Amino acid sequence: MISGTTRLAAVIGWPVRHSLSPTILNAAFAATGADWVFVALEVPPGQGAAAVDAMRTLGLGGLSVTMPHKAAAHGAVDETTLVAAELGAVNCVFRRGDRLVGDNTDGAGFVDALGRDPGLDVAGLRCVVVGAGGAGRAVVRALGAAGASEVVVVNRSPEPAARAAPLAGPVGRVGTGADVATADLVVNATPLGMDITHGGVDPLPVDEALLHEGQVVCDLVYHPAVTPLLSAARARGAVAVGGLGMLVHQAGLAFRNWTGEAPPLDAMTAAARHALARRHGPDERYRNAFRV
Ligand code: NAP
Repeated sequence: MISGTTRLAAVIGWPVRHSLSPTILNAAFAATGADWVFVALEVPPGQGAAAVDAMRTLGLGGLSVTMPHKAAAHGAVDETTLVAAELGAVNCVFRRGDRLVGDNTDGAGFVDALGRDPGLDVAGLRCVVVGAGGAGRAVVRALGAAGASEVVVVNRSPEPAARAAPLAGPVGRVGTGADVATADLVVNATPLGMDITHGGVDPLPVDEALLHEGQVVCDLVYHPAVTPLLSAARARGAVAVGGLGMLVHQAGLAFRNWTGEAPPLDAMTAAARHALARRHGPDERYRNAFRV
């Protein structure tokens, strides 16, 4: 029951009505009995810093930050975690006493999700990340921090790739699509395959002939759960992993930042899968939102 003591957390973004975060985080609050509620707030471009500042006035317990406000939020908080400082982007704001702290849970959420299913430890793996935008940068940094032996960044435009590769530390470098052939882990961090917005005509982000057994292929796209890349990876004998696990785990880290408690990942996962299945009805590509 919402009452006078209920704490409010929210996601700010534009657009934001499609967000699964309210579903996932309200499921987490319900499962743990936390007296919290989570809503989505439409905040127009240019207003991200004002929205973060309003967190102080309104006494919000926590904020998730999505596009296009991650850089503005970075500039609006009192302090940042090391990862948010290095990425120059904040996706989670929490309170430390009177101060607002900006964190970025995307990369750690990605690594945690792989650790849970398919139980992959990225330490020592040769990784290729295709895409060098906000999500790609977070994943590149997290793979380097988690001990990958190589993190190769492949991107359409050279400059973002050159800026992203050093985030992995000494194991980071810029590469080409040919690097996929020798990778243990291949990550799509571009929107290619998001056929809801692109009409289903996207090319694959990698040459499917280079995918093979023994590889793990991970798509950050989770609309649809089974993207053309994941279908191709599975057909060629690779383990295919969808993007919903990362979404749930980054939300789990936000939950921990806000409440100090361990996130109920099973309940959060079930809520996310249920919401996608409800949205997409009998479409088989949404049935198995994680490993496919
Ligand atoms: P972003 O900052 O806009 O970056 C997009 C990246 O994709 C850039 O590197 C861009 O290359 C590349 N790209 C875009 N269109 C392309 C095309 N037609 N061909 C080749 N490359 C293209 O976006 P983002 O925030 O990183 O998000 C990327 C994807 O990850 C989205 O699909 C998003 O939904 C997904 N995502 C998932 C999660 C999750 O929790 N699962 C979290 C965050 C994001 P250029 O540099 O050349 O423009």
